[in-house]
Amino acid sequence: MNPASERLRVIEGDITTLAVDALVNAANSTLLGGGGVDGAIHRAAGTRLFLKCAKLGGCATGNAKITPGFKLRAKWVIHTVGPVWSGGGKGEDELLASCYRSSLKLAREHNIRTIAFPAISTGVYRFPLDRATRIAVETCRAELAQKKLPEQVTFVAFSPEAFATYQRELSAS
Ligand code: ADP
Repeated sequence: MNPASERLRVIEGDITTLAVDALVNAANSTLLGGGGVDGAIHRAAGTRLFLKCAKLGGCATGNAKITPGFKLRAKWVIHTVGPVWSGGGKGEDELLASCYRSSLKLAREHNIRTIAFPAISTGVYRFPLDRATRIAVETCRAELAQKKLPEQVTFVAFSPEAFATYQRELSAS
């Protein structure tokens, strides 16, 4: 198996277009859709995704739940709820790391080989990009070093700035 560092990559683009086994959605705790990447995923997946999510009873911050991908090219969507940034003293770092760990655990339980993450919490939830990127990369790197699945994690940057931030973090270690 490739070392964990070769199993992590970043691309710049729209996560909804990717042909990976699972997309991760930066959802809110109702799981009923919202703006940003959540809205884009729901639009691309169609109303069956909304109907499925409506039966899940919400999701706590730091946890994750899985649904089919419906009209997406991805077979699965893993919905995780990132923390709202409120200065860093409310356990935000650990909750964000927990989003990545919970998502990867669900992925393993469904034999998912390829998974793509957006930059959870860095939009409307205002988590500082540098800090969130470091947590994303460190948490996934540590998980992959211990587990065979998923085989590949793709970070999806939605701006040149986010892309450069991931590249910097991925080349550091
Ligand atoms: P949160 O509420 O967790 O902050 P947002 O959706 O507001 O979620 O933002 C999370 C990140 O997703 C942001 O960095 C934003 O730029 C990015 N994003 C928004 N739309 C897309 C998309 N279609 N593909 C990938 N990333 C996206």
